[in-house]
Amino acid sequence: MNIIAFTQSTFSIRSGGHDFNVNHSSVGQAGVLIDMINFNQTTLSTDKKTMTIGVGARWGDVYQALNGSGVSVNGARSPNPAVGGQTLGGGIGWFSNLVGVCAASVVALEVVLANSSIIRADNETNSGLLWALTGGGPNYGVVTSFTYKTLPIDNMWFESRLYTPDKNQLLLNALVTYNEMAINETKANIIYQLSEDTSSPQSFVGFLYLDPVERPSIFRPFYDIPQHSTRINSTIGNLAKLASFYYNPVYPQTPPSREYVVSMPHAINNATYQESYAAFSIYSKQAAAFGAAMNYGSQPITPSAVQASSQTPLNLTHVNQDWVHVTIEWNSPENDARSLELMQRMGESILSSAIRHGADLPYRFMNDAYNGQRVLPSYGAGNLEKMWSIAQAYDPKGVFQRLQNGGWLLSRA
Ligand SMILES: Cc1cc2nc3c(=O)[nH]c(=O)nc-3n(C[C@H](O)[C@H](O)[C@H](O)COP(=O)(O)OP(=O)(O)OC[C@H]3O[C@@H](n4cnc5c(N)ncnc54)[C@H](O)[C@@H]3O)c2cc1C
Repeated sequence: MNIIAFTQSTFSIRSGGHDFNVNHSSVGQAGVLIDMINFNQTTLSTDKKTMTIGVGARWGDVYQALNGSGVSVNGARSPNPAVGGQTLGGGIGWFSNLVGVCAASVVALEVVLANSSIIRADNETNSGLLWALTGGGPNYGVVTSFTYKTLPIDNMWFESRLYTPDKNQLLLNALVTYNEMAINETKANIIYQLSEDTSSPQSFVGFLYLDPVERPSIFRPFYDIPQHSTRINSTIGNLAKLASFYYNPVYPQTPPSREYVVSMPHAINNATYQESYAAFSIYSKQAAAFGAAMNYGSQPITPSAVQASSQTPLNLTHVNQDWVHVTIEWNSPENDARSLELMQRMGESILSSAIRHGADLPYRFMNDAYNGQRVLPSYGAGNLEKMWSIAQAYDPKGVFQRLQNGGWLLSRA
C-alpha cells in the first residue's frame, strides 16, 4: 500500500471477483490488482466458538473446512463468492433470519491500512472500524481476514425443486403466503428464482430448515405446486453437503459472461409483487428477443433478521421485507447498452409499484446492486457521515477514495 500511495497508482482489490460491476475488482494494464486469492486459510478456535477466515476463501471451502466440526457459520448461501467482498457488502446467508446479515456475525478482523500498517479491529480495539467494515464496503483498508462467530447447528433439512414457467404465477402467490406465515420464523429460509425461459425449466425454489426435520409445514404453500424435477432431493445434511450441490470454484469463467443486476428491496406486499412480476414478464420477453436471459429473485428478510443486523451500518427498516433482485445475462458486447437499460427500467418499475402501495424501502443491497444505484446513501445520512469520519481517521490521505479504480466508495456515493 505504501508503494501504491507513493507512486499514486490506480489499484483494485479482489477476493473472489464476483462483483457484478465493471472496475470494482479489476484494473487495466496501467494499475495494480491486489488479488487476495491466497489469503484463504481457515482456523476454527479450540472452543469452536469462532472461525477466522482469510478473505480469499470461497464460502464452499469454508463449509468444507467446517465439515465434521458440528458447528456452522452464517456465510453466503451460494458457496461460490469469496468471503472478502461478500462480507463487506453485509451479505445474506442461510442463517440470516436467525442471526442477521453475514457481517453481523463478524467479531474481529485484520486490515492493512493505506500506510501499510496491519491492525486488528474488534469490540475493544478500533471498534468503529469493525462497525464500518460490517457492510460499509472497500473504503478503509485491505481486509485480510474476518473472524466469524459460529453457530451450534450441524444437520439441517433441505430440498430444491425446478419448475416450468407456467407455474410462476402459482409460485409468486405461494411466496406471498409463505412470507406472511414466516414473519416470526427464524429457522426457515428459501432461495427463490423465477424465469420465463421456455427452453428449459429455470424457475426454482430451494428450502432450508435449520432443524433436521423433513418437509416442515412452514413451506406448505409451495409443496403442492407441480414441479418439473428436483434440483436437490430431500436431504438431511450439513452446510458442506448443501454446498456440494452448487459449488463451482472456477466461476467466474474466462471469458466471463456478461451479467448485471438490480437490487430493489421492498416490504412484503402482494400488489407490489404482482405488479413487479408483470413488469418482469414484459422485460424478460424484450431481453429474450436479443438473446439475453433475465431472472427474478426473492430474498425474504424477516423482522428478526433486521433486529439481529442492527449493529451494522445498513440501517434496515423494521418491517418484514424482501431484498428482491433481478439479473440479466447476455453474451455480446453489442447488447451491453440495452441490457443495462432494461435493468434500470426494471428497477424503476419495482420502485414505482412499491411507492404506489406504500411498500418502498430506502435500503439497497450492495452485493446485488448496479453501480448507478445509491447504495451507501441508502444507509442513512447519519451512518454515511460516520463512515466518512472513520475512513478519514484511518486513511487521512484518502488513498482508498482517490486511487481505487472502482467500488462502493464514499467519495462516489
Ligand atoms: C454466483 C453468485 C452467487 C452469489 N451469492 C450470494 C449470496 O449467497 N449471498 C450474498 O450476500 N451475496 C451473493 N452474491 C453477491 C456477492 O456477495 C458479491 O458479488 C460480492 O461482492 C462478492 O464478493 P467477492 O469477494 O467474490 O467479490 P470481489 O469482486 O472480489 O469484491 C467485491 C468488492 O469488494 C472489494 N473487496 C474484495 N475483497 C476486499 C478486501 N479483502 N478488502 C477490501 N476490499 C475488498 C472489491 O474491491 C470490490 O469492490 C453472489 C454473487 C454471485 C455472482
